[in-house]
Amino acid sequence: MRKSMLIGEPTILDRSAEYQGNTQQPAIWYVNEDIQDTDEPYIVPLLEDSFHQWLEESAPSSLLGLRLLFDAQGQQLAAGGDMKPDRVQFDRIGELVREACETTECINSEEAIIIPLKKRFSNQPFAALAWLGVSTSEGVLEWLKTAALHYITIFYHRFEQVFVRDLIRQQQYFEKDATRRDSLYQATKRLHDQIDVSSVVCELMIIMENCYPHADFNLYLSQDFVNVDQRIKPLFIRNTANDLYEKAFLESKPNLELHDDGTVRVGIPMSGKQAVYGVLGITMNREQWDESELRAFVLLAASAGSAFENAKLYEQSNLLIGELQLINELTQRLNQSLRLNEIFEFTTKELLQIFKADYCCVLQLNRSDNSFQVMSSNLPAITAENLSIDFGYSGIVYQTKEPIIVSDYWNTRLVTSQLMETTGSRSLIATPIMAGSDIVGVIMVAHQSPNFFSYENYKLIQVLSTHIGLAISNASLHAEVRRMVITDNLTGLHARHYLNEQIQTRQRKDRCGSLVLVDIDHFKKVNDTYGHQVGDQILIAVSDVIRSVIRESDIAARWGGEELAVYLPQIRSDQAHKIAERIRYRVEALTEPPVTVSCGLSEWSFEDEKISVESLFYKADMALYGAKNSGRNQIIIDGES
Ligand code: GH3
Ligand code: MG
Ligand code: MG
Repeated sequence: MRKSMLIGEPTILDRSAEYQGNTQQPAIWYVNEDIQDTDEPYIVPLLEDSFHQWLEESAPSSLLGLRLLFDAQGQQLAAGGDMKPDRVQFDRIGELVREACETTECINSEEAIIIPLKKRFSNQPFAALAWLGVSTSEGVLEWLKTAALHYITIFYHRFEQVFVRDLIRQQQYFEKDATRRDSLYQATKRLHDQIDVSSVVCELMIIMENCYPHADFNLYLSQDFVNVDQRIKPLFIRNTANDLYEKAFLESKPNLELHDDGTVRVGIPMSGKQAVYGVLGITMNREQWDESELRAFVLLAASAGSAFENAKLYEQSNLLIGELQLINELTQRLNQSLRLNEIFEFTTKELLQIFKADYCCVLQLNRSDNSFQVMSSNLPAITAENLSIDFGYSGIVYQTKEPIIVSDYWNTRLVTSQLMETTGSRSLIATPIMAGSDIVGVIMVAHQSPNFFSYENYKLIQVLSTHIGLAISNASLHAEVRRMVITDNLTGLHARHYLNEQIQTRQRKDRCGSLVLVDIDHFKKVNDTYGHQVGDQILIAVSDVIRSVIRESDIAARWGGEELAVYLPQIRSDQAHKIAERIRYRVEALTEPPVTVSCGLSEWSFEDEKISVESLFYKADMALYGAKNSGRNQIIIDGES
């Protein structure tokens, strides 16, 4: 018998030799087993139980007396019998017991009768029985010797039972171990079959449920994870040295605690090659726990950790590929367009789709009045709205130049947001659009659910906003260059080529139009008298008059030198004459030093045989020539001199 039998820890026994030697009766080989010296400290309960059974089974005897059980060292273990003398000197009887055990002989003294109990295959006593009584009959010794034999039978019977029980336990242990190893192997395989993180985690939960139905378990993840399983929780690191799970995580090794309530709690790190991803926490009853469980848990958590890592890497690389594709497509599309409005519209449409957002709007900074203008949005109510530069989340982004993520607007209302209020949204990402170190705009995406946007979304929108910023800068520069190209520097009117282009375009789609050529009378004289600078001022003043008279859709240009031209789309010559007259009149009235202008006017209509910019100009020039010849400061319509 071994220590393990009594405290429940199995040991490995190899009985194959006994089986080989006794193939006829393999079932009773254990009758050849005897207690060993090393077992003696552990056989006390067996001795005691046997003693009580022995008392019960003893026939009522006329021999009155106290029966005592001692171990071989003279330590009293149990008592029973018919009579209790007033004063028993146990120390003295203990001495007698030791003597009897050493000599292996019975002692029949005045004080007590001692019978050493000998092992079945050696003469060595393992305990002793003592009898203290009043009867001094000769038969007592013989009776006690027989009773002692009975005790030994009872004892060995129990001993064999323990042995068998131990063997059964061994057998069960091996079976359990084999099943566990098998299911662990299957579990590891299943874990590694999963290619996404949440499947790995769910599989781990299923495995734990199946293999350890009697255990309570949780998985504490150090990673962002959205899951409905209540047993999966975030791992908070609070730097409390005594937190079991936190310690397991930080030290990256299993951590075990025995609790007063009879439970064992273990925290096992779920690690991969690169990091620890979480801690598997298990609570079990102490009876169900043995060291081998820990080994199994460590193996399982390690498998889950590496499967988790693989799945994570796979997900990340997929995400990265997806993001790169997205950035590539988006920049290609953005670069196709140099029109600002198109870029804003496209950005809104794409961002709504990429982030599955409910709402998106793109704001552009208007430096002239320090405001943000909503350039595009899928929310008609706020489109074209002008926001104060320090208002709402765009105000924060403007000040910090940093993106901002709001997981729940209802709970963390840093500022009042028009977008969030109007739409009843709860999640938001607002990110600056930068051009170099300057903010040129803000992108905002919103969703009605809380915690909708992930950290990945947050990072991605920043990358995208850089590209959007570049596209906006390009388009703005392009627009500026174009504006410069089509604008005359001195007068602010359009350049001649722009007027030509526009007339050509309009002639393709309109039914008619008129052209007015305006030429300052005796301008040379103005220059000569007042100098070129004053001449320039006069030129500007005449241009201002023209601008003040025409509509938004009319196109005024500097045709060359001091000759200006106005194209009036969809206007016939009689109407054009009125406009020209207004120009003539105002120039005469408003210029200082006063100048006058002569105007030549021509028109085209879809009925004309030949429609061209050149002939329109030619005719207007002819009319102007006529006006000059007729004394200046007047208007002549082509063909009406
Ligand atoms: P009219 O048209 O009445 O026949 O006489 P004019 O003196 O205006 O005629 P002309 O076409 O000979 O002279 C035009 C003058 O306008 C010549 C040039 O010095 C002047 N001029 C052209 N462009 C500019 C300009 O940008 N600034 C100034 N100050 N003068 C200009
Ligand atoms: Mg002139
Ligand atoms: Mg001229």
